[in-house]
Order: sequence, then structure tokens, then C-alpha cells
Amino acid sequence: MKYDFIIKQGFIVNGTGNPGFIGDVGIVNNEIIKVSSYIQEKADRVINAEGMLVCPGFIDPHVHEELVVLDDGLFEVFLRQGVTSIISGNCGHSVTPGTSAEIFEYMHKNGLISQKARDRYTENVPKWHDFSSYTQVVLGKGTNVNMGFLLGHGTIRWQVMGETRDRPPTLEEEEKINQIVEEGMQQGALGISTGLAYIPSRYAKTEELIKVAKIVAAYDGIYASHLRNYIGYLEAVKEAIKIGSRSKVRVQVSHLTPTVPQAFDEILEARKKGVEIAVDTIPKSTAHCTRKDRLIFFISALSSKLFDSGEKGVKIALKTENGRQEIMKDKMLFNEDKGETILINTGNPELENKTIRELAQQKNCSVDDIIFELLSNDNDQISFWLGGRTRKDFPDEVHPENIRNNPLVMVGSDTIMGEYNDPFCWYELQRRGAFPIFYEMYHNAGVRLEEIIRRITSLPAQQFRLDKRGLLLEGMIADISVINLEQYSYPSPEQVDYKKPLTMANGVQYVLVNGKLALEVEKVMPVFSGEILYGKTTSKILNKKKEKK
Ligand SMILES: [Zn+2]
Repeated sequence: MKYDFIIKQGFIVNGTGNPGFIGDVGIVNNEIIKVSSYIQEKADRVINAEGMLVCPGFIDPHVHEELVVLDDGLFEVFLRQGVTSIISGNCGHSVTPGTSAEIFEYMHKNGLISQKARDRYTENVPKWHDFSSYTQVVLGKGTNVNMGFLLGHGTIRWQVMGETRDRPPTLEEEEKINQIVEEGMQQGALGISTGLAYIPSRYAKTEELIKVAKIVAAYDGIYASHLRNYIGYLEAVKEAIKIGSRSKVRVQVSHLTPTVPQAFDEILEARKKGVEIAVDTIPKSTAHCTRKDRLIFFISALSSKLFDSGEKGVKIALKTENGRQEIMKDKMLFNEDKGETILINTGNPELENKTIRELAQQKNCSVDDIIFELLSNDNDQISFWLGGRTRKDFPDEVHPENIRNNPLVMVGSDTIMGEYNDPFCWYELQRRGAFPIFYEMYHNAGVRLEEIIRRITSLPAQQFRLDKRGLLLEGMIADISVINLEQYSYPSPEQVDYKKPLTMANGVQYVLVNGKLALEVEKVMPVFSGEILYGKTTSKILNKKKEKK
């Protein structure tokens, strides 16, 4: 027997949570053929992993990279953390239904991509019209990591009901929504996501969501939810549990804040009662750096009233007392302390890297006055660091014990569409280190290495029903990371320069994706061996369809 790769004498932690051991891993094509204390036979390539961790590639169940892949499928940011699979289509936003041009428009109008990006995509990217044709475009472009996708309830509701409507769907609309969900599930989506804090999903009542979730459950799909945070986190978690128990769908609570530890206990209790539920959280986050042109659209997506008034309407609203109140009432936008917002990339030394409070003191006016003046003037080349260097809901603090010990807690980085040729449009400084930050935080707090690895490999793989992934065992697919744990780290918020949004994690030595070497000694290569991730049940449906042909 000759192997393509043998990874030699690393500390193998296989993702089950069982104790690790020193041994060899033999790979042929995309499959792990042998895991044992020593492999005698030869290989085309031997990787010496002495003193290093050898584990399944990590799985990030919560990202927004469905359009990024159309520009750049290299995904260095994920490989450098040891991540080999990512799941997009979160928070209610997805790449179907409708044509690609309609999707770009949707993304733009919701503040998710800039106008420039929308125009570039519309011109340069091969067109798609449904889930299958989108995945063909992705594979045609190539991706270095595996990609799974959720259907977005917000996008579906928008397309069927006509942008954003604060009312329940009519029977006819409901029929149409169901049909789109069925079609997407049959074509290989892993489930559906909701963004219940955003338009238009926020106008869907629990009963509407239960109906949709039942269809997803019939395909063994998952229901992943950006919660209805405005009713309070605990209440919002209870709504997700109710949807799970009534529809029998698996539930993923997305990016839950560790500042509400009871909400995590609630999830564990629900699991004990039989609801198949789990949760991801962002280990640490700064606020977002958001350029004004994209921020204006993000503001317009706060309510259907603002949305209907459009970009111009928002700018007019910013100049009237009523309009200002309407905008400021949403805490999501400027967090609790607006004065902490820092201005960056302004090109003006008088404004640069200053908080709005400092400017207000200098100019002897109120914080709100400064915000409204900056938002409504014509200078678009300015970024707002909304909330400043740490986000209060994802602070730079060790998670409380009950969260650390909750076996259902995994990492979701919530990496949000940056822009390929314009990284300053919208970015964040810590999420590109979500996995090393999680490792460091949990390891220092005494959580076993094997348990940390289980949380970011087999736990998400099982929750999203990813076939043959998330475990380093014979017969599984060869998604493998080799990591020097002593160097595995990400710079702290103080160390990251906000002028360099493309900072990367350290310490990952080798990454195999489907048996191909995509990262070698911290260098990323364009092998594009990533595949589309289908759920177990959908894989069967797709295979049957192939057989019929
Ligand atoms: Zn979200």
C-alpha cells in the first residue's frame, strides 16, 4: 500500500472528545485510510508533525462568504486558523431565490455590499437563477475550503412579498415561500436561516416561522437563527426553542452573546427535553468598521418605513427631528454608547482615530449633533467604528463557567463579507482569529484540548449533518489541520492596526482539504479542492436524481 500522504508522529486529537495519542495518519486521494501509532509503508509525501497537533479541519458554521467566493476563493483567513469548512447564508440572507442580479440588489439594499461591489458582481460573475446553478458558479470559480449554504428566510420573503412588508404572507404567498424552500432543500441547501432582528424576517411571527421550519425538518435540514434580540435574549432563545419543539426541526442559535449565561442554560435544558439544539458564539469581537456609503443602506434596513424612503430618504430623515429619533431608537446601530464610536480612514487628521465624544467636547456640542452632521454631509470617505474597540456583547473576557462547560457551545466567527478590492468598506479586527482566540480562552480556563477540538469539529458536523466530516477516523474525508499549538494565536485588539484589516492568525502549519494540501508552513496555495457541503438526506436525494439520469 502506498499513501499520498502520511502525517507522522503528531498528537492526534480525532474530534470525538476521546484522549489524544501520538501516531500516524495515512491518506489516499481524499480519504483517511489509516490512523495508527505507526505506519510502516511509504508515501509520496511525508509530513513530520512531531510536537504538533493533528486534528480534523475546523468547521465554522456561521459566516457570510457567499459572494466573497465569487471574487477570491483562496480563503486564507480560514485556512490560517485551521478551518476547512464554512457555512454561509446566515442571518436570513441567501443567494436564492431569483436571479443573481436580483440577489446583488437585495444585498446592496440591505447594506451587505457596497454599490461598487454590486455593479462589479453584476457585470463580471457568471449568472445563476437557483441554488443548483449558484453552486455550479462557485465550483467553476473554485474554493480552497468546503462550503455549505443555508436558504435565507429574509431573502425568500423579500422576493415573494415584494421587498419588505410588515404583515403576514397571504395564502398564495405562503404557498410560494414553501415551494421555494422545498426546491432549495432538494437542490442541496443545509437548511434555512432567519434574521429576526432585520427586515423583512423581523415581520414574521413565530407561527409563520414554525410552518417554514416544518418543511425544512422534512428534509432533515437545520433552522439557524439570528434571534429576535429586541424582545430580550432569553425570550428570543425561548422562541427558537418553541420553533424547534413545535416543528421538530434541528435548531442552531447563531452568535449568542456570552453576556446572558442563562440563555445558554436554557438551550442545554431544551436539549435534555429532546429538542435538537446547539449554539455558536463569537469568542471576541471589536465593533465593525463601516464606511459611510454602506452604513446609510444599513440604516435604511432598520425598518420598513426607513427602507421605503431609500438612500435619499435616510439622508433627509437625518436632518429632521422625527427622522433622527426613528434612527436612534435602534440600539443595534450605535450600540449603547454612541460617544464611543471612533472615526477612522477619514483622511483628516482632526477627525482620525477620535471618538465622537472627544469631537463633541472639542466643538462644544452634543454627540448626536456630530453623528447627524457626519452622516448627512456629502463626505462618503469616512468609516465609523461603531461602538469602538470592543463590542459589549462579545467582550474581551473569559466566558463564564456554565458556558465553557456547556457541551453544545461551538464557535461561529460571523465573518462578514469584506470586499475584495476594498477591505476598508466594512471590516472587523478579531473575527479572523475566532478559532485561536477560542482555543486560548478555553484552554487557559482549563477545558481539555480534546473537548475544545470536539466543539469545533464533530459538534458542528453532526449538527449540520455534514457527511464524513469533523472526525479524524479511518473512512472519513481527509480535511486535516496540523497546528503548532505554542504559536497558535491571533493578535489582541491593541496589537491589530485598524489600518490593516487583513491581519491573519499564526501557528497553523499544514492544512489538507479533501486530501489536497491547501496550506503549507503558513503559505496558502490556490489548489481549490473545496467542495459543496450537502446534508446527509439531500446527498441521497441528489444521488437518486443522478441515477435517474
Ligand atoms: Zn447575524
